[in-house]
Amino acid sequence: MVRCEGGALRRTPGPIRRIKPAMKVCSPVVRWLFKRSPKPPTEPALAGSPRVRAGATFAARLSFDAVTKRYGERLALDGLSLDVEPGEVVCLLGPSGCGKTTLLRVAAGIERPTSGRILISDIEVAGPARFVQPEDRGVGLMFQDFALFPHLTIVENVAFGLKALPREDARREALLMLSRVGLERYADQYPHILSGGQQQRVALARAIVPRPAVMLMDEPFSGLDVQLRDVMQEETLELLNETRATTMIVTHDPEEAMRIGDRIAVMRAGRLIQTGRAQDLYHRPAALFVARLFSEINEITYRVAGGRISTPIGSLPAEGVTEGALATLCVRERGVGIVAAPSNGSGSAPGLAARVRSAKFLGDAVRYEVVAEGFDEPINVRANVGSPFEKGSEVRLHIDPGQVLIFPPCADKVV
Ligand code: ATP
Repeated sequence: MVRCEGGALRRTPGPIRRIKPAMKVCSPVVRWLFKRSPKPPTEPALAGSPRVRAGATFAARLSFDAVTKRYGERLALDGLSLDVEPGEVVCLLGPSGCGKTTLLRVAAGIERPTSGRILISDIEVAGPARFVQPEDRGVGLMFQDFALFPHLTIVENVAFGLKALPREDARREALLMLSRVGLERYADQYPHILSGGQQQRVALARAIVPRPAVMLMDEPFSGLDVQLRDVMQEETLELLNETRATTMIVTHDPEEAMRIGDRIAVMRAGRLIQTGRAQDLYHRPAALFVARLFSEINEITYRVAGGRISTPIGSLPAEGVTEGALATLCVRERGVGIVAAPSNGSGSAPGLAARVRSAKFLGDAVRYEVVAEGFDEPINVRANVGSPFEKGSEVRLHIDPGQVLIFPPCADKVV
């Protein structure tokens, strides 16, 4: 079975390929796989090169130094600098077309940067002075397109990157890795009999068996159902930990990035907007765009006067927003307290007087839409299940001014 677009499963006897449109044009991924052959390298191979043998991985630092990539008029990467520390897992997050895949491709050597430098363990692999061929970089790739070879058995697929080893050694290593991902019983079968998740495991095994120093993964878990995705994420992290591979993983899913990344790099329009740990990005987003990624927020617009905005929860400083311009007040849905209004109708009770306009059960939370005094638009509130308010309930809202965020407005669509 393979997972088709739309999530349905079907059995297919045909070639095993899931190609996103941008990849179709550029068979270099498949070329890259073929190029991992035992022929002598044109440049000295880097430590931990996948062509050498399956052995201990040298933890490598992957550095991008002011990397720009142009496709004609289109600027896919715009002077991007980033260091991925040895053994670290960095998730790349950002809207479609912001340059995530391009960043992986220049790191792998499938594309040449237009300017800037890429270094692996402080050795330049792409730059004005030098270009190390993809097969000599010690880089493992796992793309959305599994690119399993339909004419090779499953164990042969996994052993593909181990051609420098004697055949029997390569088979032994591949079988070991297959057992690691729980698929050794399929070793001598062909990929078309596997489910989408199993193919993904084979692709993971093939990418990781040469113990690359750097692992680049483009949306490796997309298209898997929730349970399988969780399992695959765990297994992948375990394997990456074991091999100490320095890893970049592209994802569209902020929750996935928070779960699997040591750090998250948020990209927009070819640039890095913010890099940091999940909690840093959540609590201290550098821009409205980043705040939107990590929590559901209410956005209310005010005009800045005297460096401040005047809101129902008080006058708040609007740092970084031009005087006279609009500023967006962000209130996390989870950050709003909701309590019953006093039964005696006392208007002096603390909090903003409000009425519940709708209440929706969301499984692990209830989402209220509340009309509150001083706000022109309804405020959304996420409260724990079990909170007792029904449509029409009189309530009080508590919004901590210390927890709100204020940014210049941002029109960009989130991921
Ligand atoms: P997605 O999340 O949709 O996969 P992405 O963030 O990975 O997107 P890229 O695939 O890196 O984005 O593309 C970045 C930009 O570069 C896009 O505008 C894309 O159209 C353009 N681009 C990528 N590859 C090529 C190419 N081979 N030729 C021309 N333009 C390209």
